[in-house]
Amino acid sequence: MSLAHDTSPRPPLDLLRHDWTREEVRALFGLPFPELMFRAATLHRENFDPAEVQISTLLSIKTGGCPEDCAYCPQSAKFDTGVKAEKLMELDAVLAEARAAKASGASRFCMGAAWRSPKDRDLDKVCAMVERVKALGMETCVTLGMLTDEQARRLKDCGLDYYNHNLDTSPEFYGEIITTRTYQDRLDTLDCVRNAGINVCCGGIVGMGEGLEDRIGMIATLASLPVHPESVPINMLVQVEGTPLAGQAKLDPFDFVRTIAVARICMPASVVRLSAGREDMSEETQALCFLAGANSIFYGPKLLTTPNPGRDRDMALLDKLGLRPMA
Ligand code: SF4
Repeated sequence: MSLAHDTSPRPPLDLLRHDWTREEVRALFGLPFPELMFRAATLHRENFDPAEVQISTLLSIKTGGCPEDCAYCPQSAKFDTGVKAEKLMELDAVLAEARAAKASGASRFCMGAAWRSPKDRDLDKVCAMVERVKALGMETCVTLGMLTDEQARRLKDCGLDYYNHNLDTSPEFYGEIITTRTYQDRLDTLDCVRNAGINVCCGGIVGMGEGLEDRIGMIATLASLPVHPESVPINMLVQVEGTPLAGQAKLDPFDFVRTIAVARICMPASVVRLSAGREDMSEETQALCFLAGANSIFYGPKLLTTPNPGRDRDMALLDKLGLRPMA
């Protein structure tokens, strides 16, 4: 079958599906680019104001020294990347960053800690951060590694809005990227978060040397979760010297845009975030991502430990495109 001439019916616009097959997702990836963009943009409009972009700021509250071996990550203690292990930040320093993010237009403040899973004493401190950041009038998101049901409940009780835990890639390619925890571990943590009533932020990374089948597998898995993640970050690998993925062949930007568009079509009511990798992306590629249905970005000069476009550059780009921050 020629995927480029797929004539399968469009997904029902008023119905969220959780039974996406790989064949269906593959057919979407194989559509002619203009048709794919049209379908994605149509669903984007049906579910969101396409002129609005949700803006999040991400702060590393505990950097480096992580015992996991995610092959893309400069914070793993297993790779020599020059990132030093630091202690958990103090509450006042986190609040100062949150206030600055809010003053620059961010509506959500995301806090990331390089842990395999949080210890209970650390969770007490993170809960205090969540409570105080929320008191500033911002949404909160944390990413702390694997959680138990009890830990997820504690985060819910302190008012956490979102928990980020990415599937990263397809189940088949996953073992090439991480060996210290399994795909099922990730799905189990997502269950804990969902069961606790916290919104789920879950997506993946492309450009890690995976093939098209892996991008298909990743989107099909995300879109087949019992409830779609409310937030779906799609990251382009940021290559960091010292990590096993440094020197990887670069992904064609159109393949990245296609991944965004297919995520938008398969999870039409989710916020799709154009996440890491924007520093190396042209303005034109970013504009295509917005046309493909991306409606969130990370804002601020740093994403955990890697560079991100400065705020002025981002505001200038949003202005140029006639986009505005989501309230
Ligand atoms: S991605 Fe997270 S869990 Fe993996 S090595 Fe980096 S900090 Fe650790």
